[in-house]
Amino acid sequence: MVAGAVPDASGRALLLSLRRMNRIRAISPGDNALVAEAGVILSHVHEAAAAAGLRFPLSLGAKGSATIGGLISTNAGGTQVLRFGPMRALLLGIEAVLPDGTIFEGLSPLRKDNRGYDLRQLFCGAEGTLGVVTAATLRLVPALRQRVVAWVGLDSPQAALDLLRRLDQRLGESVEAFELVPLVALQLVLHHIPGTRAPLAADCPWQVLVECGSSVDGEDLATRLAAALATEMQAGRVVDAVIASSEAQANALWHVRENISEAERHDGMAAKHDISVPVSDMPRFVIEAAAAVEARFPGVRAIAFGHLGDGNVHFNVRAPIGLDSRDWLACEGEGITAFVDDLVVAAGGSLSAEHGIGQIKAAEFVRISDPARLAMVRAIKQAIDPLGIMNPGKVLPLASGPAIP
Ligand SMILES: Cc1cc2nc3c(=O)[nH]c(=O)nc-3n(C[C@H](O)[C@H](O)[C@H](O)COP(=O)(O)OP(=O)(O)OC[C@H]3O[C@@H](n4cnc5c(N)ncnc54)[C@H](O)[C@@H]3O)c2cc1C
Repeated sequence: MVAGAVPDASGRALLLSLRRMNRIRAISPGDNALVAEAGVILSHVHEAAAAAGLRFPLSLGAKGSATIGGLISTNAGGTQVLRFGPMRALLLGIEAVLPDGTIFEGLSPLRKDNRGYDLRQLFCGAEGTLGVVTAATLRLVPALRQRVVAWVGLDSPQAALDLLRRLDQRLGESVEAFELVPLVALQLVLHHIPGTRAPLAADCPWQVLVECGSSVDGEDLATRLAAALATEMQAGRVVDAVIASSEAQANALWHVRENISEAERHDGMAAKHDISVPVSDMPRFVIEAAAAVEARFPGVRAIAFGHLGDGNVHFNVRAPIGLDSRDWLACEGEGITAFVDDLVVAAGGSLSAEHGIGQIKAAEFVRISDPARLAMVRAIKQAIDPLGIMNPGKVLPLASGPAIP
């Protein structure tokens, strides 16, 4: 997404694969923790936790290939951030090799540790610019006993956020995912992805996928969610809703959500932005930012979808109909991205919610970041990697600028 694992064009980069460091070193049910080497694939962590009657609650579309080292280094989010937080919230300990060869041993599964700076967290989201993560201690939670997935039709993003807050109150902490899908995104999926069906009969302008989970047997989560949604419909706050009655139906709803990006690709290239703003401001942002971009760049089509509950949407801008999207992106992409990023800054947001900075966003990160943030980032990099040998040109641009081959 940001060319974070792509070497620069100097021809002097050394590529390091940790795929053979693939052992689960230990599982400690007493600590609710698991120690995995950096090359372990995420789905193997899921399996190991499940075998111990526990769960590692971070999951994403790349779970069959993404490694623990990569997930830590990108501070991956995924579909359960709403309830459990991103990788940062699940990282208890870390082992890393520093640029000078020193091994930082920090795998102890301490829940409380106030020895000054939190060194393990430095490596989370660092994109390999401070050292090589070789192993990590991960937080586990009780295994999932119930899972319910619903699809809900609404009038506006604000109605969606209001629904989330009322579900929080009625269902406690069981809401794990809350994904915003505008009608235009759903229509793209139905058009381009074979075998997909509209979840609702009504063409609601805004729709959400809701997933709830519980580690408790006995409480009927589906009944509680159905009752909550019925109340919302009676009050006129929800237009339509459906609850998956089987695992296959639940997966079919997720299939629609997870194929939005793919469907968009079939439709042509887009200027893509993975942005976050405070959750309470996201309903306003998606409407006003889309209108502002469409007014400033006539003919373009802005679309915002994704993790509304986390205050993170994919804000993509597609070419005017009839133009070659590749040529259009080459001409207009940079200007559109700068325009969107300025709107994000004005809203107190981040130009990178999940994807990191890598090479592609490095110059823009420097352009829009406040001097205090940049000074601290540069000081940390200089202190730990004074020779600048670790993943050069990522997060902070090379002096000569990005040079992607
Ligand atoms: C289909 C799909 C769906 C996705 N969905 C989501 C999502 O919902 N939410 C989300 O947050 N992300 C998502 N992602 C992104 C995903 O989190 C990352 O692609 C993944 O975590 C990268 O892991 P990797 O092992 O492939 O790392 P790589 O791509 O190989 O590396 C990623 C970065 O980490 C660095 N790195 C890798 N290993 C180490 C190490 N051991 N030590 C130091 N640095 C290291 C690399 O230098 C690079 O900068 C998705 C990706 C795909 C392909």
